[in-house]
Amino acid sequence: MDRDVSRVLITREQIAQRVRTLGAEISTVYADSSRGLTILPVLSGAIIFLADLIRELPLKMKIAVVHLSSYRGTATDPGEMRVIHGVSGDIRDRDVLIVDDILDTGNTLRRVHGLVRGAGPASMRTAVLLRKPSKAPADLAVDFVGFDVEDQFVVGYGLDYDDHYRNYPDIAVLRPELLK
Ligand code: 5GP
Ligand code: MG
Repeated sequence: MDRDVSRVLITREQIAQRVRTLGAEISTVYADSSRGLTILPVLSGAIIFLADLIRELPLKMKIAVVHLSSYRGTATDPGEMRVIHGVSGDIRDRDVLIVDDILDTGNTLRRVHGLVRGAGPASMRTAVLLRKPSKAPADLAVDFVGFDVEDQFVVGYGLDYDDHYRNYPDIAVLRPELLK
């Protein structure tokens, strides 16, 4: 994979450090929640972030999942949004923390917010590892952001190109000739 990467934007060490501080921020917010916390990762991009983040949250929690897809195959521009699987598990009256890899146009999170609201949670908050501030709509509320990044296509730490590179440990930009 190294030979496919043109530039590392955020190293694994920087990610690990930020995930620890995010974990501390989030733990403070939910410290005295008595209603029960459910973490809701948006598959598939959130899987690595989820695994690291929840181990920084010393809180009792359940995990439910929701699976959406907006990129298809080798496209790097968002395609048609598809709900591959709705919210698993019962989140009614629970404190729900949605976890996603990246906030780009906001279409994905808007859809997820709708699905979650429809299920009647006690509260809903959102954590994203990355945000592209130049594109993210101002009216879409996210509560916790790991890093703001420039508007370019990134891979690694859960983020894919044509379903590859999710296991790349850093956040990186691919060599342009690889993007079709
Ligand atoms: P949005 O719906 O906010 O435009 O995009 C959110 C989803 O699109 C993310 O969950 C992610 O799956 C995908 N996405 C957006 N930007 C990027 C990017 O730079 N790289 C990769 N690999 N996926 C992205
Ligand atoms: Mg995603």
